[in-house]
Amino acid sequence: MAKNSPVLILLGPPGAGKGTQARMLEEDFGLVQLSTGDMLRAAVAAGTEAGKKAKAVMEAGQLVSDDIVLAILRDRMSQPDVAKGIILDGFPRTDGQAAAFDGLLAANGQKVTAAISLEVNDEAMVGRVSGRYTCDKCGGTDMKRRAGDNAETVRERLKAYHAQTAPLIAYYNGKGVLQKIDAMGAIGDIRKALGSIVDGVSA
Ligand code: AMP
Repeated sequence: MAKNSPVLILLGPPGAGKGTQARMLEEDFGLVQLSTGDMLRAAVAAGTEAGKKAKAVMEAGQLVSDDIVLAILRDRMSQPDVAKGIILDGFPRTDGQAAAFDGLLAANGQKVTAAISLEVNDEAMVGRVSGRYTCDKCGGTDMKRRAGDNAETVRERLKAYHAQTAPLIAYYNGKGVLQKIDAMGAIGDIRKALGSIVDGVSA
């Protein structure tokens, strides 16, 4: 990846709109969205060794092991299209992933440009995610619900978020790269708020 390319992280519970907003940042800024959830779903669909290990864990709403996720991400980051800069959606999700990612960037003389926390209300997320019928790739609404999107699993995923991922907000705050935005409003307003942040950090 080019040394000055932005490295942006979107933090937030399932349903906060990380995927939607990451795709908009791709369009608006020419960044590349890296979703570990999409990578893992592709591995499950392809029946790879990593996919076989990840399947049951994902269906239970728990986190896949750092080793599997980091291997999949490293592989993706070795491809040339990431040179323009990346927007991570759904990664890192644990302290271990955050530390390993910092190491990966440091080896290339880089660091996280901004970690943006999408602030939402948990209860609203259960309804939002368990009613989710949109296609991850195209945003169309005629696709089947994603695996793991029933209300019970969503609650498990929220628990995993609070126990393992929310502490990363303090981690990035400590590094001076944290930004927070209210993500309960209209998609277009959130897109604008994110756009101003990205303009600010890439100036
Ligand atoms: P997502 O599409 O980001 O909500 O991810 C769907 C599921 O994939 C999660 O509930 C986890 O089981 C798994 N997953 C995605 N990203 C990660 C990650 N960075 N670390 C561990 N598990 C992950």
